[in-house]
Amino acid sequence: MNQQKPSDPTLKLRGALPLAPAPERCPAPVPERLGHFIGGEVVPGRDESLFTSYEPATGEPLCQVAAADAEEVDRAVTAARSAFDRVWGGMPGAERGKYLYRIARRIQERSRELAVLESRDNGKPIRETRDVDLPLVAAHFFYYAGWADKLDYAIPGQRVRPVGVAGQIIPWNFPLLMAAWKLAPALATGNTVVLKPAETTPLTAMMLAEILAEAELPPGVVNIVNGAGATGAALVDHPGVDKIAFTGSTEVGRIITRATAGSGKRLTMELGGKGANIVFADAALDQAVEGVIDGIFFNQGQVCCAGSRLLIEEGIAAAFLDRLKRRIETLRIGDPLDKNTDVGALNSVEQLQRVQRYIEIGRRQGAAVWQGSACPTPEQGYFVAPTLLTGVQQTDTVVREEIFGPVLSVLTFRTPDEAIRKANDTEYGLAASVWTEKASKLFEVAHALNSGVVWANGANLFDPASPFGGMRHSGFGREGGIAGLWPYLEIQ
Ligand code: ADP
Repeated sequence: MNQQKPSDPTLKLRGALPLAPAPERCPAPVPERLGHFIGGEVVPGRDESLFTSYEPATGEPLCQVAAADAEEVDRAVTAARSAFDRVWGGMPGAERGKYLYRIARRIQERSRELAVLESRDNGKPIRETRDVDLPLVAAHFFYYAGWADKLDYAIPGQRVRPVGVAGQIIPWNFPLLMAAWKLAPALATGNTVVLKPAETTPLTAMMLAEILAEAELPPGVVNIVNGAGATGAALVDHPGVDKIAFTGSTEVGRIITRATAGSGKRLTMELGGKGANIVFADAALDQAVEGVIDGIFFNQGQVCCAGSRLLIEEGIAAAFLDRLKRRIETLRIGDPLDKNTDVGALNSVEQLQRVQRYIEIGRRQGAAVWQGSACPTPEQGYFVAPTLLTGVQQTDTVVREEIFGPVLSVLTFRTPDEAIRKANDTEYGLAASVWTEKASKLFEVAHALNSGVVWANGANLFDPASPFGGMRHSGFGREGGIAGLWPYLEIQ
């Protein structure tokens, strides 16, 4: 039954079929105040450290969050060390695995609540959190649960043991998935953890703390401290931490690399990117259009592996752009909790301003700016319409720098060599996509790209068994797969 009134904005869509609002109704109450999770206890944190976290889709306050200072971080590290020494580090792998399976199953059971909280906190559509993030979160715990009793095979011919206490610092773009990427391999290998969520997306990590308690994970095995850069820095500097795993900006990655130099701490870094989407004339074009959109618009471009540069073979450039624009016109922008929404909100007002600034820089440097206009962008909240920048050069700021928003710079090429040269002409090297029906070309181009990940006729595809990570300024170390175990293991 369609109950829309004629004034409903969705009816004004030119490209998309009008649909009645379909809000996700799963109740997922947001706590008024979030503290920390230390030694198995939820602690309120200090009153004077409280800051406000905002809901991206409305710009309204969502909850108050306490920021941990060095003393609270120290308590968390001490709890992690004690849990490592007393119980977790020496526990048989098969026993550790049971906890991970239990956590995975509990995540599945509570996945709808988690998805709703994630969408409210991050701004991304429920379709993404429900159908992509949460299944991957559970899959990561299941996958590494399976490794826990097989670590003798993690590095062939070597005996291994855990590193100790891991400090893990994660960003806001995939809050729970990044927590899972970091926690699951660390726990499977017998390490204990102090995790710091991003300051704008603390909700699901604290719900995960509840789930860890429900799974009866021994106190102190996972500790969660909330806060911003200062809390992260206190964790990085703490002498009781043996390893730092970081996902975030290249800029902060550099700060952490400098801060840990000479400390003996192990490091893995998953940093920024400027992914290339290379579309050859012989590609399945509609499939490529979907992949390009998936790679940059479904997550509002807030993915370090976003395909933010589109390289189209010159002969099909005009036709491809035409198809792309027509498809963009059908995207629904708006309420992340509406099950029909394709494009949600940017995570914060700072991010909104950053993306708008980059679009303006592109315009000033001569780019033609095209924004899908069929779906109205909500006036409230942090929304940016999917944006194409054409007429850009390799040297333009918008082609070189990571924008982290729904902004796609469009370039063309004539030969595979030129495509490879342009794709590699960046300081980053995280992910790329190649679109062609010709397998030999696919392999030739994929192998020539300086990119930690290359997707063949696809984009943003993740699997816990498949290692993910970058080269050059996109970082080092891998998460996922057997390689994801290595940073958490010491060879004996
Ligand atoms: P983004 O998520 O935008 O890529 P950042 O790199 O700024 O952003 O943030 C990633 C994570 O790093 C967040 O959890 C943030 O609080 C944390 N962080 C920011 N500055 C520092 C710092 N100097 N030391 C440690 N962690 C930091």
